Amino acid sequence: MQDCGTMQNDSMTQSLFYIWREMWYNSCGEPKRDQRGKLADIGWLIIRNHWGGQCAYCANIGELTRDHVVPVIRGGQTTVDNVVPACRSCNSSKGTTDVEIWMNQRGLDYQRFSSHFKH
Ligand SMILES: [Zn+2]
Repeated sequence: MQDCGTMQNDSMTQSLFYIWREMWYNSCGEPKRDQRGKLADIGWLIIRNHWGGQCAYCANIGELTRDHVVPVIRGGQTTVDNVVPACRSCNSSKGTTDVEIWMNQRGLDYQRFSSHFKH
């Protein structure tokens, strides 16, 4: 497997996330989504573990909801790279704002956040 700049982490869960994520890309490198258009529960578990059981945006460990990074209304899909755990506060505050703009407005670390999505 080529080194494509993803984060290195020894944890089993982290490895599982990347192995599982690989399965979401077809041979053209386009993300697939499951036929029902929503993540299976196992996928959600792995995503949540990948983010350490914290809000992907502010690292809050409260109740986590599934947030589309690019909102569905703006063409975002329910794929492994577009669903993250978000606390209720972030989820409702973000709305349909562009994630980078929104995170900068809130003083959140967009670089750290986006590093999770490097292929
Ligand atoms: Zn949050």
